[in-house]
Amino acid sequence: MSQAPILPGATLGVMGGGQLGRMFVHAAQRLGYFTAVLDPDPHSPAGLVSHHHIQTAYTDAQGLQQLADVSAAVTTEFENVPAQALQALATRRPVAPGAACVAIAQDRIQEKAHFSACAARSGVGCAPHAVIQSEADLRAVPADLLPGILKTARLGYDGKGQVRVTTREELTAAWAQLKNVPCVLEKMLPLVAECSVLVARGHDGQVVSYAPQRNVHVGGILAVTHAYPGCLPAELAARAEAATKAIAQQIGYVGLLCVEFFVVQGAQGLDLVVNEMAPRPHNSGHHTIDACDHSQFDLQVHAMAGLPLPQPRQHSPALLLNLLGDIWFDAQGRERTPDWAQVLALPGAHLHLYGKTEARAGRKMGHLTLTGADVAGVQATARRCAELLGLPGLDT
Ligand code: ADP
Ligand code: MG
Repeated sequence: MSQAPILPGATLGVMGGGQLGRMFVHAAQRLGYFTAVLDPDPHSPAGLVSHHHIQTAYTDAQGLQQLADVSAAVTTEFENVPAQALQALATRRPVAPGAACVAIAQDRIQEKAHFSACAARSGVGCAPHAVIQSEADLRAVPADLLPGILKTARLGYDGKGQVRVTTREELTAAWAQLKNVPCVLEKMLPLVAECSVLVARGHDGQVVSYAPQRNVHVGGILAVTHAYPGCLPAELAARAEAATKAIAQQIGYVGLLCVEFFVVQGAQGLDLVVNEMAPRPHNSGHHTIDACDHSQFDLQVHAMAGLPLPQPRQHSPALLLNLLGDIWFDAQGRERTPDWAQVLALPGAHLHLYGKTEARAGRKMGHLTLTGADVAGVQATARRCAELLGLPGLDT
């Protein structure tokens, strides 16, 4: 579908008011757009900085009507936005990504089926797995999928909705623990590394991409992203980038897409396994704000508005450190404010806080992007920040 560009001065809408919505709003407003956020939370990070904030449930017909009334186009900042809400909006306004693409990303079963269908074109398959929706499925699980990770098909994030299992008995217990909802059992792979790729695809089929970044998770949550030449072997990075484009193209995706990969040791050297996709900007792409000439949020705006998609260029090596609520508490569990002044005195330290009023362990409160003239300098600044703030994951 081609669409006349929606130009600055118009209002762009977003479903969801989290930090991703907030950074989308910042990017849109910088370009001269007005913004509308739909999120029930009166203190949502994006709602707080948007021109319009519609405070209703995501399925509220009136709220959706209002969003469509004020917005020239609509996007989403979280994948669990109800598909029927996007469908309802799409009857009135261009919606990118579309409900069908978001629906695939919402469900690991569909997602894996999509990745498998793309494998011939993308050159990358998913981890060996089995779909578990019935007792019969459970009994039929092949022994070589154990040890494995049982993941709920829907609504998992940051390692939630997952149980690691070694035996059949554990598997049965884990499925019961997950309330016997549809699940995927994935073989536990010995990961050498993890990486992700961001691409943006326009209504006209044009695709641009960022170089893949290497991600380090701690306790199932992204802790560190390395984004500089050499953060991954070049051949592997090129394959991941090409695979991500194929995954976007095959479903006619419009918008910003992130695909996560595992790097594993294969018989012929390092190999890639595709893990999951996010139909929106991604935590592992936040460095693009400070290290690239166009951020992932800029490209989200371009794609939804039908503007041309410039190939982004990274102008600085970058390291991204996530700031979770844990660092708002001292060893005795007393709340404190991290020492931002010391961090902000460091060259190339870009602090992003999401405006969340309540810190909780594991809650994403902000991130730090370190940029600099060379990789060694950026790594040294990151180490200093990690030391000052007590951040994990940099040594991996
Ligand atoms: P989430 O939706 O929580 O991000 P993921 O499927 O990405 O779920 O899993 C979270 C993390 O758990 C991954 O980033 C990886 O570190 C680990 N993990 C997930 N699946 C596997 C697997 N099959 N083998 C080894 N590690 C895994
Ligand atoms: Mg993940």
